[in-house]
Amino acid sequence: MTKVPSMNLPGISADDSLMLLRAATELSFSSILVTDAQHRILYANPAFCATTGYSPDELEGQNPRILQGPLTDKSVIEKLRNDLDTTGHFTGSTFNYRKDGRPYLVEWTISPVMDESGKPRFYISVQKDITQLQAEQSTGNLFIKAIDAAYDGIFITTADGVIEFANQGFEIITGYRPAEVVGLKPSVLKSGEHDDAFYKDLWGHLTSGVPFRAMVVNRHKHGHKIHCQQTITPVKNALGEISHYISIIKDLSDRVFEELKLREQASHDGLTGLLNRRAGEIELDLSLLKAQENSSPFCILMADIDDFKAVNDTFGHNRGDDVIECVAGVLEKEIRKTDKAVRWGGEEFIVLLPFCGLEKATVIAESIRIALASQVFDEIGQVTLSIGVTESRNEDTPTSILDRVDQLLYDSKRGGKNRVTAA
Ligand code: GH3
Ligand code: MG
Ligand code: MG
Repeated sequence: MTKVPSMNLPGISADDSLMLLRAATELSFSSILVTDAQHRILYANPAFCATTGYSPDELEGQNPRILQGPLTDKSVIEKLRNDLDTTGHFTGSTFNYRKDGRPYLVEWTISPVMDESGKPRFYISVQKDITQLQAEQSTGNLFIKAIDAAYDGIFITTADGVIEFANQGFEIITGYRPAEVVGLKPSVLKSGEHDDAFYKDLWGHLTSGVPFRAMVVNRHKHGHKIHCQQTITPVKNALGEISHYISIIKDLSDRVFEELKLREQASHDGLTGLLNRRAGEIELDLSLLKAQENSSPFCILMADIDDFKAVNDTFGHNRGDDVIECVAGVLEKEIRKTDKAVRWGGEEFIVLLPFCGLEKATVIAESIRIALASQVFDEIGQVTLSIGVTESRNEDTPTSILDRVDQLLYDSKRGGKNRVTAA
């Protein structure tokens, strides 16, 4: 249990010590909150007031639960209560709300200060706003994705020449998976084609901090030679010392383009050109995670063609295929550029709608439904869709949100088809 350290700083009087410690609290970048045993706020330091937007007067006597809101994770608050009752200490992280209603992600600890009988007399809470930190991590992830999306091979070595990072392009060009080469030296790519003078020139450039650029013959993992244009750029740290080398290799054949085209084909449905189910599952995982990380609204829509068996049975499978293509066209026309339409099954589709609340998603679903229903197919006549729409929740997994939207689609079928059910 927390023991309050003696307030006396060595060689400094009790009064001065108290004044200094108080000043340190006032100057701290971390938010500090002191409550009594009943969790009524006694003191909030300026950092706390700056983060939350409340004045000290507004906070005094309040319970810290005024900071909670819809995004506050109930299970964290539950853990807080439980931890204080059992171990006496709590550390955790969830969303709090500023006075103006804006949420922020906070990491905080609570420790009790005991009275003589060992019962908590006060609680001290130290808090850190980690919203920015989280955002930076997300940006970092985006940079890695951007590097991975490049057609060029990119790898980074330490000053000692040990590979620390390689992208997807590197794998396509050299045949080595990033995980295989991390920890190795770029000499794994050596083809034996270059003489000593070549390497002397290379190291001459690099050790003097100048980028090196040349046509390099590397060796593929499978043994054949690959002709590359290669740039190696030294990166310096704050002290001006070379800390890393960034290498970019461009395969001079069309192989990389071909390979990326093949990967594209592997992720798209042949009939409609929409994402196929496998790619759709990956996109759903990513979109859901992103929405939960950034607390941004995200919706999913699931659509199934009504009475499609009858179309196949009466007009043949090929006409059925035409209808499926047409439905895909309607989906693509009615959704936003940032949305993703997926051919989920034979005549079943999902659409991922990032940065979209339930109300807007329902409007989009209705526009899809109406656009298809108002079309007249030769001989066949009208073809309709039943649609389910739902918005992601904090606790959702890809499976839970799919189950929910599937159920809503089923409700549309049961309700008479050609309709949208949103919840
Ligand atoms: P419901 O309104 O309840 O959805 O009735 P439904 O007749 O559409 O029934 P269901 O969704 O169960 O049946 C889908 C049919 O779609 C069964 C299958 O033969 C057909 N189908 C699935 N994939 C394809 C495809 O790629 N092309 C064609 N032409 N038909 C397909
Ligand atoms: Mg179906
Ligand atoms: Mg159907």
